[in-house]
Amino acid sequence: MSTSFVIGDYEITAVLDGPSLPRDPGMIFTTVPAEAWDPYRAIALNPEGKWAPDWRGHLIRATNGAKGDTPIILVDAGMGDVVHEHTGEKGKLLDNLAALGVQPEDIDIVVTTHCHGDHIGWNVSYDGDIPSLTFPNATHWIASRDWEHYSKSENQNPAFDKSVKPLEALGALKLIGGVEQIAPGISTLPTNGHTPGHQCVLINSGGKTGVITGDLFHSVAQVTEQNWCPTFDWNTTMSTQSRRSLLTLASTQEWIVFTGHLATGSSIGNVVSEGGKSIWKAL
Ligand SMILES: [Zn+2]
Repeated sequence: MSTSFVIGDYEITAVLDGPSLPRDPGMIFTTVPAEAWDPYRAIALNPEGKWAPDWRGHLIRATNGAKGDTPIILVDAGMGDVVHEHTGEKGKLLDNLAALGVQPEDIDIVVTTHCHGDHIGWNVSYDGDIPSLTFPNATHWIASRDWEHYSKSENQNPAFDKSVKPLEALGALKLIGGVEQIAPGISTLPTNGHTPGHQCVLINSGGKTGVITGDLFHSVAQVTEQNWCPTFDWNTTMSTQSRRSLLTLASTQEWIVFTGHLATGSSIGNVVSEGGKSIWKAL
């Protein structure tokens, strides 16, 4: 199974930061009864019956044959430089980028799908209390709706305060809204609901389309059960609508889908229709 896929002039590679803490699915999908998971246990839960997503970002680079001055783009920056209790290890995003031949200073643009801690962790590094840019040459593209929402004191988000807010004073913040072109054929696509400004990244090149879905869905079961929402969704009516419409487009237009949290090795796939149901077909 693949961790990388070429869409025309671009190669998109899943870059692991680390495994999350496996949890009981009933704690996360609180409105889904335990028995409703039964048809999906083998594909959606680990052998202990836990929901165990990975944390990752995606690297977008020009393929060797591509022309022009294409920026190197990172979509989402993992959980970051903190030791995780369940593994005893720090996030590996920078190590895994280095293994791909990419150093922090090579990244030109970091696109954040949304401002939750597991997508922004590496944005800012700290020497004591002093923040600096982990990717010193990058501009960070943040949805203005997320920026406005999490800047309000009533919507406390310590990860935002640590890993997004400092970008403004560090001169690396670019607030965006709606569909914005990132590079030729690459643009943001608003899919609000998981957070107020949640966005996907769409890649159109060489007659193919790919989409990086952030947290549009968190389990392979949601490709079929598109109304299932985790407790993390800010507005479940909006997140369901965004999930349904994007998965429908991905299915009917045969998009390559790069997911934020599905298990490594089956995180890239197609949404296909089988027996009247949408199902995930890993590539
Ligand atoms: Zn997430």
